[in-house]
Amino acid sequence: MMKTVQLKRRASDRAKKGYPLLVAGDFDRAPSLKDGELFRVVGSDQQMIGTAYYGLQNKGSGWIISKREETALDVGFFEQLFGRAEAHRGALRHDEQTTAYRLFNGEGDHFGGITIDRYDGYVLIQWYSEGVYTFREQIYDAIDRVWAPLGIYEKVRFDKDGKYIEKDDFVRGTRGEFPMIVLENGIRYATNLNDGAMTGIFLDQRNVRQALCETYAAGKTVLNTFSYTGAFSVAAKMGGATKTTSVDLAKRSEPLTIEQFSVNGIDFEQEEIRVMDVFNYFNYADRHQLTWDVVVLDPPSFARSKKRTFSTSKDYPMLIERAAKVTAPNGLIIASTNNASFGMNQFKEMIEDGMKQARRRYEIVEQHTLPDDFRVLPKFKEFDYLKVCFIRCMDN
Ligand code: SAH
Repeated sequence: MMKTVQLKRRASDRAKKGYPLLVAGDFDRAPSLKDGELFRVVGSDQQMIGTAYYGLQNKGSGWIISKREETALDVGFFEQLFGRAEAHRGALRHDEQTTAYRLFNGEGDHFGGITIDRYDGYVLIQWYSEGVYTFREQIYDAIDRVWAPLGIYEKVRFDKDGKYIEKDDFVRGTRGEFPMIVLENGIRYATNLNDGAMTGIFLDQRNVRQALCETYAAGKTVLNTFSYTGAFSVAAKMGGATKTTSVDLAKRSEPLTIEQFSVNGIDFEQEEIRVMDVFNYFNYADRHQLTWDVVVLDPPSFARSKKRTFSTSKDYPMLIERAAKVTAPNGLIIASTNNASFGMNQFKEMIEDGMKQARRRYEIVEQHTLPDDFRVLPKFKEFDYLKVCFIRCMDN
């Protein structure tokens, strides 16, 4: 028998409008539910709202996954769900120049707690709670039926007790060969689906890489900060940048960036790759009065290094100010953040603060949020975490 859980007044209003995420404070009485248990959600007025599953994750306790009563989530349920998601990605499926993108974006595709990405002939699942992980066998089978990949890999992202840390991420099918080369708008990126938390490319920045490559890079020098595998540097170089400088403090960023250039036939020895703290690099650039035509800023939401902690919500104005100082006259700053705790307007205020401190006039000439394959519920913008502004410095 499925349990019935009543929501408090505000949570109930929200859920009736289609908001799918449930948090601990929403429940009228703390329910005793197991991971992956399905339950009937009713409003403060006892009216049926839908079916949810229980799963503790980062900021929630479960997701409403249907307006109907669902007593079991079988392969057929997921097959239908994935089939509908597939119908929204027709353009990408037929684009032979792009072989890596998001196939299924959790709540944006009406089932929170899981994402599925395509990497060439393979599929990568990311699981965000122990609860959703209980449906894994049905989900693997449904993936095979809908997308028929050569193989399935997965990342477990709820790892509380360390149980899954050293896990082999291969699930079934045939094993891929790594580095696996994927295409994005014709540019090659080396990826690895079985080497830690990240794959070598952040698929949500596709449109930003494309804009940089096609519109802003030709004939320009580019400084790429928080560069990871140097994907922005590669896009810039392929767009005709004269020289790129990539800065990241992780030691492995250097070989990975060299690989990323090399698979595109770019001579990495002509490019600069620095393994160091971005803020120390800004100091160095200030001392030597170095400037670049384009400066890319893509910090993690929160980072702790030996000497300092950086949090985007607090420190982004300072980052903008530092970047503005090394941006050439009439140059461009591409500022990105994936911090979901603030929206585009607040981000623009941070940019305003930083540019004021640096005493540079500017204009935002282009902005981006998540691309279409990272589907979001149109009514609930808070799931659209990505914010990117192209800031033109106005110096005459
Ligand atoms: N821009 C990259 C993704 C960046 S991920 C891309 O498009 O692929 C964030 C990166 O910031 C990580 O590689 C991490 O090593 C790096 N990082 C975090 N703090 C840093 C700091 N203070 N200085 C330099 N790099 C830093």
